[in-house]
Amino acid sequence: MAARPQPYLEGLNPAQREAVEQLEGPVLMLAGAGTGKTRALTARIAHLLMSGTARPNEILAVTFTNKAAREMKTRVGSMLGQPAEGMPWLGTFHAICVKLLRRHAELISIPGTMDLPHRDEPLTAQDELGPPGGARGAPEGPHLKSNFTILDTDDQLRLLKQLVSAANIDDKRWPARQLASIIDGWKNRALTPEKVPAADAGAYNHRGVELYAQYQRRLIELNATDFGDLLLHMVTIFQTHADVLERYQRWFRYILVDEYQDTNVAQYLWLRLLAGGHKNICCVGDDDQSIYGWRGAEVGNILRFEKDFPGAHVVRLEQNYRSTPHILAAASGVIAGNEGRLGKTLFTDLTEGEKVRLIGHWDGEEEARWIGEEIEAAQKGTRGMAPYGLDQMAILVRASHQMRAFEDRFLTIGLPYRVIGGPRFYERMEIRDAMAYFRVVVSPDDDLAFERIVNTPKRGLGDKAQQTIQRMARSNGVSLVEGARLCVQTKNIGGKGGNALGKLVDGVDRWGRMLGDKDLSHMELAEIILDESGYTAHWQNDKTPEAPGRLENLKELVKALEGFENLQGFLEHVSLIMDNESDDGDEKVSIMTLHAAKGLEFPCVFLPGWEDGLFPSQRSMDESGLKGLEEERRLAYVGITRAEEVCTISFAANRRVFGQWQSSMPSRFIDELPQAHVEVLTPPGLYGGGYGAAGMQPLRSDLAERAAEANVYNSPGWRRLQERSQQRPVSQPRETRNTVIDMSAVSSFTVGERVFHQKFGYGAIQGIEGDKLEIAFEKAGTKKVVAKFVTGCDD
Ligand code: ATP
Ligand code: MG
Repeated sequence: MAARPQPYLEGLNPAQREAVEQLEGPVLMLAGAGTGKTRALTARIAHLLMSGTARPNEILAVTFTNKAAREMKTRVGSMLGQPAEGMPWLGTFHAICVKLLRRHAELISIPGTMDLPHRDEPLTAQDELGPPGGARGAPEGPHLKSNFTILDTDDQLRLLKQLVSAANIDDKRWPARQLASIIDGWKNRALTPEKVPAADAGAYNHRGVELYAQYQRRLIELNATDFGDLLLHMVTIFQTHADVLERYQRWFRYILVDEYQDTNVAQYLWLRLLAGGHKNICCVGDDDQSIYGWRGAEVGNILRFEKDFPGAHVVRLEQNYRSTPHILAAASGVIAGNEGRLGKTLFTDLTEGEKVRLIGHWDGEEEARWIGEEIEAAQKGTRGMAPYGLDQMAILVRASHQMRAFEDRFLTIGLPYRVIGGPRFYERMEIRDAMAYFRVVVSPDDDLAFERIVNTPKRGLGDKAQQTIQRMARSNGVSLVEGARLCVQTKNIGGKGGNALGKLVDGVDRWGRMLGDKDLSHMELAEIILDESGYTAHWQNDKTPEAPGRLENLKELVKALEGFENLQGFLEHVSLIMDNESDDGDEKVSIMTLHAAKGLEFPCVFLPGWEDGLFPSQRSMDESGLKGLEEERRLAYVGITRAEEVCTISFAANRRVFGQWQSSMPSRFIDELPQAHVEVLTPPGLYGGGYGAAGMQPLRSDLAERAAEANVYNSPGWRRLQERSQQRPVSQPRETRNTVIDMSAVSSFTVGERVFHQKFGYGAIQGIEGDKLEIAFEKAGTKKVVAKFVTGCDD
């Protein structure tokens, strides 16, 4: 093949080029944030294609999020400068495994049952009534089928609860949620029930393994998988069917993996099996950015790459192209606190830029208000900030509950935002209900979905009727939909409820037939399902204030379907999404968790909530040993290194946690920021509205007192902050200046001085005792108060 021009190689540095051009054999690119790993990986795909080394479908590229996959697709497309014939297999582990598993689902069976006849239970009512479900959906036997449903964590938990209760285990003592996380852990380690090691036998009060086996069996009966199964099943198939493995080893001749430091054992095994033949595998990662240990990721995978693939070509990149020197230095300073790092040199040629900005606030609401104002200022290019588009700004939070304050604030001021990284939209009740309808229509043996909709909206089918359906289904070995049909036909459920149930079952049949109707779009079908089932009417008749919003969301859901070929594709997408993409293309500020921000970059980044207990999380602080804390520190490193030009870290002295106000201490990571690269901004709340902005709330003395009780201002973090802050509040309006807590004035009061107190107003100092002042207040009489809440005044 004639050599084609190679524009995609231009601009790469020598180390990157090396990683791109070394196409054969194992390659490891191990380098710090922003050094162009992902860019080199993308160029490598382009090079594989353009040099004629591989056809698109011979390339398998794994990214960590769907968003990253989409970006890589776009980047490869633009690097090629011409449409490629087809695209590589490019997606997350899960997305790729779903595709593969659909082709080989039948290879996953309940252990020991493959040889049994398909139905081992005598049929009762069903024998008289013919096969269930007409042409569609007759259960064939105890193995997975290609139209399996992927359960979300909610469904997973419901199923486990049923098993736990059937096993007579007290859910209060042994929560099903705990079992769920144990099972997830095993799946992350690629352990099927038979493979769980003896050391784990005590799990979940010695019932864990047995329940795990039951759970797996039940999933297959339901023709369902959970998230962890997608990989587990594929690893099982590769391990037990050499022919299938060989086929894919030949098929995927070139394998590329981004964010390799966050692979778990199952993912690692899957990759090793696939790359086992040709060993053309290129992994890139950064041990300092390993942030999924809590989900079973093993940073050891990247560290032992050279052992697994002897002769691996290791490339190190040292130039950071993303962040200004201050930002890079701040991030490096924080991560230096971790032990056992590989350690990397990073440098940048970018101009110095702004220091990392640090600011404290009274509470989370004020933090959100301030960030909202900063964003608006940045958008306009006022207050010393360069103008940034909304798309260029992001708020990265440690915990998703922090998002609420920002969402509320931004809705109030009309600032467009999008939430990335959590299936928020799809978690809403009405959306989940609607999707359960779609799921039943697409796979009628999805019992969990049927359970959700059978009496939603209310059809007069209470617990008793639902139990009858369950019993009927069980005794006939059929799905709940079929069980329901039998209940109606045998009049086991009669009256109004029976009629309504009959209508529902008929509806499921009818909508199922419509799936194949070429003249009907799946959007139209979705509307028909929601209308005919009475679900839309249910919200139209609902008089609660939320109802209109829910109807809006349902409309939005139908809109979201547009981007998909059919309902099934959509359902698959939703079960996989890590991104919330109800995207209308308008410019928006992004809000996401730090975890979801991995691999991304933004010119202007806000990192709120840097408080001990929130970030680092309480859990990591309570843990013995440093493992959890070190992972949090890596998260801090990931957060700071997302910023290109402006990085603003903030914390609040008070935060409402589960409805309770709590005082908080600045994060220990704030102490670890190298001073020379940080600029401390004046906290507006603390100084009574630094910007003199209209509507800025005056200082709240109750909060101030509580903060003082918790010694926030005596914490090392706060003290350091004060030391660093040379600034005194400047040019504030007089009336707000009187509400100032002036830290520097604390120790310098004199008897007789006229002062102002938050709560009690003006007065004169009568006596001084340590940090307490006796003050004769003009209105409140004589009181002893803490000096912190007292300011001197000029008048
Ligand atoms: P992370 O560890 O955060 O995933 P990364 O190592 O994958 O970072 P990239 O996202 O690939 O880094 O690159 C960071 C930024 O630097 C991107 O904007 C990218 O376009 C730019 N960049 C990468 N390599 C070069 C280069 N050789 N010349 C100029 N810019 C580059
Ligand atoms: Mg990257």
